[in-house]
Amino acid sequence: MSKISSYLSYFNLTLTGKFILLLFTFNSLSINKAISQEKFKIVIDAGHGGKDPGRPNKNGILEKDIVLNMALNLGRELKKDDNQIIYTRNKDVFLTLRQRAKIANEADADLFISIHCNAFHDSRVYGTETYVYGLHVSKANFDVALKENEVIFLEEDFEKNYQGFDPNAPESLIGLTLMQEEYLDQSILLASFIQDNFSKKLKLKNRGVKQSGFWVLHNTYMPSVLIETGFITNPKEGAYLNSSNAQKDIAHNIFNAVNKYKTTLGITGNYDVVYRPKNEITYKVQIAASRRKLELKSYNFKGLKDLSVKKEGRLYRYFYTSSYDYNEILKKKGYAISKGYKKSFIVGFKNGKIVAINN
Ligand SMILES: [Zn+2]
Repeated sequence: MSKISSYLSYFNLTLTGKFILLLFTFNSLSINKAISQEKFKIVIDAGHGGKDPGRPNKNGILEKDIVLNMALNLGRELKKDDNQIIYTRNKDVFLTLRQRAKIANEADADLFISIHCNAFHDSRVYGTETYVYGLHVSKANFDVALKENEVIFLEEDFEKNYQGFDPNAPESLIGLTLMQEEYLDQSILLASFIQDNFSKKLKLKNRGVKQSGFWVLHNTYMPSVLIETGFITNPKEGAYLNSSNAQKDIAHNIFNAVNKYKTTLGITGNYDVVYRPKNEITYKVQIAASRRKLELKSYNFKGLKDLSVKKEGRLYRYFYTSSYDYNEILKKKGYAISKGYKKSFIVGFKNGKIVAINN
C-alpha cells in the first residue's frame, strides 16, 4: 500500500464525523488535515439498582451493589487514561432500560458497557460471558436476556414505552429495527478482548462471546457489550464476585480490553490526525434534505452515525458517511436505504463543493 492509500484506509477507520479541516502541506502535495479533538466517550452502565436488586440468589448477594462497584472502579481507571466517562448510575438508584439507552444515545458515546452478574437455578453453573446484540438467539442465551429484560415489568406504562416489546416473546425482538447491526463487528471485538482477559489473566471460566436480544444493547446506537461477570448463584463464584478484590480485578481487565480495542481500531489519544489529498472527489450519501436544522445525532437519523450537513439556500442537506471509494459508498447507500432512507443518493464533494455524480 502506498503511503497515501494507507492514510486513506486509516481515514476510513477513524473518521468520527466531527472534524475540522485545515490546509496542510505534506510530501509536496497540498492536502487537507482533519483533526478530531473530542475525547473517547464511554458510557458505563451498572445493571439494576434501587428497587431492582438484580438476580435472586440464596447467598444474600446483591447484584446491584457488586456491579456498581465494578462500574465505578472501571470508570476511575478509564478517566485516568483520559477517556470521558458517563455513568448511567453512580449510586443505588432505579433506572429504566429506556433511561439507560437514552443516556448513552444523547451523549453520542463511542462505547457502551453494561455490567451484570448471572444467576441460574443450578448452583453448580459458573463462568463469565459477554453479550453483543443479535437475533441468532439460542434458547439458553434468550433466557439470560429474558431475565435482564424483566426489569421492564417493574415500570409503569411499559407497553407504551417499549412499543409492543414483550420480554417473554422471542419473536417480538425481530420486529424492532436493527440499530446494532452496524456496530456488530466492533462490539464482538471488544467482547472477545474482555473474555480473553477474564480467562487468561483472571483464570475465570470462559463461557464465550454470545449474541442475544438484550433490550438495552439493541437500543444503543454505538458499539455495545453486556458483561455477565459470573454466577452469584454459585457459592464459590458468588463469594468471589462479592469481594472488593474481584471487583477491582474484573474492572481492571475490562479496562485493559478497552485499551486493546482502541489500539486495534487505531484510536490513539484524543486526536485522530488524518491526511487526504486535495482535488480528489469525496463521496457521501445524501439521506435527507429539510428546512429544519437537525442536530447531527444518530438518534435523529435512524441510528446512522458519521453525519454531516451542508446548507444551501434555505435547505439543509444531510449526508451519511464519506469515502473516496465509490464501491464502498454504494454499499453505504444500500445500508441507508435499508434504514428507511429510501430516496438516498450519492453526491461527490470536490474542494468543499458538491459535484454531480451519476447514481
Ligand atoms: Zn443483571
